[in-house]
Amino acid sequence: MGVNPINIKLKENLFNVEEKIEKSLLKVGRKDKVELIAVTKTQPIENVKSIIDLGVKNIGENRVQELVQRVEEIGQVVDYHMIGHLQSNKVKDIIDNIRLLHSLDRMSLVKELNKRSKMRNKVIDVLIQVNVAEEMSKFGFKVSDVIPFIEQVVGYEHIRIKGLMTMAPFTDDELLLRKVFKTMYNLKEDISKRNYQHISMEFLSMGMTNDYEIAIEEGSNMVRVGTGIFGERY
Ligand SMILES: *Cc1c(COP(=O)(O)O)cnc(C)c1O
Repeated sequence: MGVNPINIKLKENLFNVEEKIEKSLLKVGRKDKVELIAVTKTQPIENVKSIIDLGVKNIGENRVQELVQRVEEIGQVVDYHMIGHLQSNKVKDIIDNIRLLHSLDRMSLVKELNKRSKMRNKVIDVLIQVNVAEEMSKFGFKVSDVIPFIEQVVGYEHIRIKGLMTMAPFTDDELLLRKVFKTMYNLKEDISKRNYQHISMEFLSMGMTNDYEIAIEEGSNMVRVGTGIFGERY
């Protein structure tokens, strides 16, 4: 078999990201693990298959249609993560296929998720999306709205809140990034201490290509990396 040059590049990039993840953990003396979610949006199927061959176990998509297509093409040999804004009328299309929804951002979505998972006799795992910097362009709750929201969701038995997710501002301002990630970490700790039923703070999904090392230093245990693995999107 011939050597595929794209595979070599992907292999290098993936190795590099995995190495940086380990270095960031070491730097702050963490002994736990970080899960890497490869964000495959807009990537040709060959690239997605390549990184799965290279050992990637988690695939993230931000659009329902692409996620459904990945599942059809690849099957349940990896875990799928819905990381983008989800319209209520599309819940039914993904509910059987995802391990985790990272983008719970409103009450109306809770109702639809609960209804659909009840119909299937299952429980759906979700993360609450937080818009720490309150950017107009982003979805998610303000920090101060998260706990009141959780108190509303506690009664929905077919939804299990497993943690929090954020997209930090796109900036090189390291201090600002640290502040955002620290705020998330503290919020997670605060929620954990309240011991809500059916709610665990297992996952802190934060860190993308631009900022995943800082996010890990500040306590992230799930990073969502696209460009860092595949190169610039076209
Ligand atoms: C695209 C995307 C990512 C990955 O972004 P990169 O900068 O390419 O690593 C992570 N999370 C979400 C929600 C995204 O939409």
